[in-house]
Amino acid sequence: MSSSLDIERLLSERVNDIETSGIRRAWALAQACEDPINLSIGQPDFCVDDSIKQAAIDAILQDKNGYTQTAGVEELLHSIHNRLHSQYGWEFGPQSTLDAMVTSGTAGALTLACLSILSPGDEIIVPDPYFVIYPTLARIAEAKAVLCDTYPDFRMTAERIETCITSKTKAVLINSPANPTGVVLTEKEVTDIAMLCKERNILLITDEIYDEFVFPPTNHASPASFSEDVLVIRGYGKTYGCTGWRMGYAAGPKLLIDAMLKLKQQTFVCAPSVMQHALVNAYDVDLTPLIERFTKRRDMVVDMLGDVTELVVPEGAFYAFPKIPKKLGMSGIDFISKAVEHDVLVIQGDVFSHHDTHFRISYAVPEDKLERGLSVLRTLLT
Ligand code: PMP
Repeated sequence: MSSSLDIERLLSERVNDIETSGIRRAWALAQACEDPINLSIGQPDFCVDDSIKQAAIDAILQDKNGYTQTAGVEELLHSIHNRLHSQYGWEFGPQSTLDAMVTSGTAGALTLACLSILSPGDEIIVPDPYFVIYPTLARIAEAKAVLCDTYPDFRMTAERIETCITSKTKAVLINSPANPTGVVLTEKEVTDIAMLCKERNILLITDEIYDEFVFPPTNHASPASFSEDVLVIRGYGKTYGCTGWRMGYAAGPKLLIDAMLKLKQQTFVCAPSVMQHALVNAYDVDLTPLIERFTKRRDMVVDMLGDVTELVVPEGAFYAFPKIPKKLGMSGIDFISKAVEHDVLVIQGDVFSHHDTHFRISYAVPEDKLERGLSVLRTLLT
């Protein structure tokens, strides 16, 4: 049996407008490789800690498999409250103007936030380069993503944001440490952005999915330490190696969290129950050895590519975003095609940007593979 429906006619403009051609082109090229050195995947290469795995198994065996309350299970919410209290002095409770909710991944929190604040015609300012879903989220809400160009140093500063603000601006979205550049904003930069947003009555959304992946001596700075008029969005997937569990959270002004809960109740209902129980004690896991390992990998990238390309030294996340030297005369897709010929997968810059001058490396891969991949890239860039 085959479908006779004209599905193309039925699809919404919303979905037709979603731009996936760049990723598809990269994917099509990758099919040619049998055993590639894959430096394109944005997911950690370590296993979930045994204590967390065991907690997931226990939750299933203890029949904690049903719906949970929309905001999340009490124990997990409690650990999120404690975390934000110890980091930024945020207080939660019946009298508080702050609240938190567990979400289906960081992407789930971003989706609920955008749908809760953006009406058709509204604007949200996002960095360029950006995490691929940011412009899509604005489109889904029939709003406009205004790209704040951060080239060549990739710093999303208050000065750069200010030039993008219009009467239609509802929100600013920042991401530090950043995908795809690894740039980490300073305390002064995030404070200035928070102040600007407060003055202009604009919501500041801070996507902090890589908050734990920051390489000493750099520290993670959150605008939450300065302001409570901020929506903090974080995830568990990258930090604890469980991206497929789809777990994240959002915390910020109670009225906004209430709106997001309303949407969540009538769409996703709740985050996966077992995974919520599994992550209650996640903050007990010592991440120090992991960060040391990722710092070494970052150093490998800088050592092997720093002198053959323009590279902003990543201070966090697990990405680097080197520039393709002009003398090569190659576009992003030309360059990644060349890399594929040598069995190395990276992603061209136009997947993350309206510029096509850079490419993204993910160094969340074992050191031997990373070294082989980097030496191929070094040769191609020289
Ligand atoms: N924000 C950023 C900056 C990301 O890089 C990602 C994932 N690559 C997400 C959000 C979405 O994360 P999750 O898998 O938790 O939905």
